[in-house]
This record gives sequence, C-alpha cells and structure tokens, in this order.
Amino acid sequence: MTERRTGILGGTFDPIHYGHLNIAEAAEAALGLTQMFVVTANIPPHRRQPIASAYERYAMVVLAIDKRPGWRASDMELRAEGPSYTSGTLARFRERGYLRTELFFVIGADAFADIAAWHDYPEILDHAHFAVVSRPGFSVAALPKMLPALADRMARPPFDAHRGGPPLIFLIDAPTADVSGTAIRARCEAGQPIDGLVPPNVQQYIEQHGLYTSKIPGRRAADVPSAAAAGRLHGKNRQAP
Ligand code: ATP
Repeated sequence: MTERRTGILGGTFDPIHYGHLNIAEAAEAALGLTQMFVVTANIPPHRRQPIASAYERYAMVVLAIDKRPGWRASDMELRAEGPSYTSGTLARFRERGYLRTELFFVIGADAFADIAAWHDYPEILDHAHFAVVSRPGFSVAALPKMLPALADRMARPPFDAHRGGPPLIFLIDAPTADVSGTAIRARCEAGQPIDGLVPPNVQQYIEQHGLYTSKIPGRRAADVPSAAAAGRLHGKNRQAP
C-alpha cells in the first residue's frame, strides 16, 4: 500500500486567505504530504459568531482549493454537534482508519504557542504529528524556548517514515502571506480592495455576496476584532464537555 501522509488544516476561515493556503503548502512540501483536508470549524450558537455563515465559510474553502489535486474541503466539524475541538477532529480521523502517525495537523506558530491552553492538552500531541509553520513576525525558532516541556518532541523536516515512536512536532520556517482574516474583514468594511490577499475566486465570492460589508441588507459587517483565533479553534478556556 502506498504511504499515506495526511495534512489537516483547521480554521474558522472567515474568510480563508493566502496565509492559510501558504502554511498548508509549506507543510505539504516540507513533509511530503499526499493529501490535505481543509476543515471548516463549527462555532456553536452560544459563542461569538464569525461574520460569514458556516455555509459561506465552507463555500469559500471549496473555491480556495479548486484545482489542487489531493486537497479536500471537509464539513466534518460542521456536521458534528457542539464545539470544534481539534482533539475531536483528530479522533474522527482515527475512527475512519487513519493511524496517528499518518496525520499531520497543520498550524501557524502563533496558534501553536498557545497549545497548553487547548482542550485535551497534552494528550492531543499523541494523536497526530503537528506541522507548525512560521507566521510573519513569529519564527518557529522561538518555540523550543517558549514551550520547553515540548522541546524534545520538536524536530525539523524531513519526515522519516521508518523512525517509529510517538508523533512529533515539526517546525517549518517558510514565507507566508502577511494577512489575517481580521484585516481582510476590516478592508471590506472600509471599502478597500482585497486583491492578492485571497484567491481571485474567493474575492469574487466575497464581493458578489457582499460579505463583510454592512451595505447589503441583512448583512453584518466586521463589527469587532474576533476573539483569539486559537481559542475559538481549539477549545481554549472552555469547560470540558
Ligand atoms: P482571524 O484574523 O479571523 O482571527 P486568522 O486569519 O488569523 O483569523 P485563523 O483562522 O485564526 O486565521 O488561523 C487558522 C490557522 O492559520 C492558525 O493556525 C494560524 O496560525 C494560521 N495562520 C493564519 N494566518 C496566517 C499567516 N498569515 N501566516 C501563517 N499562518 C497563518
């Protein structure tokens, strides 16, 4: 059987942008990933809602990964009841027959720096490899000092499939777009262009549907800066269910 190395990129994707695509591409190239699942997070009703609906966020993911062989949009978290915990998502992949050593959870260095606050920490690190990619202004080189308890699990690519042992935390330095969902929403609300920040078909979707602008009836604008993204994504500061 061919070796399967599966990347999982999770996010609120409000909207998906080149920073997200760049980290997944960097992990794919550095670790030789053979497929990539892009998993849109479910934000339950009692939490602060993204501006775009789950349908719209998922649609933008589908558009963003168009023509990328091996990449798939996943509605796994949107179909599940309750909050999107990364540990739950990894468990669902395991239920579908993936080994923990076949899974690579792709994440930016800024979000990973917060890992100790995640639901199911530290066990979550045993459920998949982590592929941690630098973000502008946040090099992965800072992580061993920031997270000394995890330093001996951190490794640099390439991935040695014959190594065995528990999953690792791969540190990947790569140039990624200096962009955030918050900045994109603010630009839309201010009527400024977002060319080059998201793929052209995502930009077209945002403009066609009037996302992130209060000028369309019934549409909320980018009202307030969003809560810490890692908190929304990974269950930080939430009570265990
Ligand atoms: P928002 O501004 O809406 O809070 P965001 O654009 O920062 O969101 P998230 O959904 O919070 O995006 O990020 C999902 C993942 O993508 C996180 O692991 C984050 O570190 C990573 N990421 C987002 N933007 C970039 C970027 N420009 N470069 C590298 N990593 C990024």
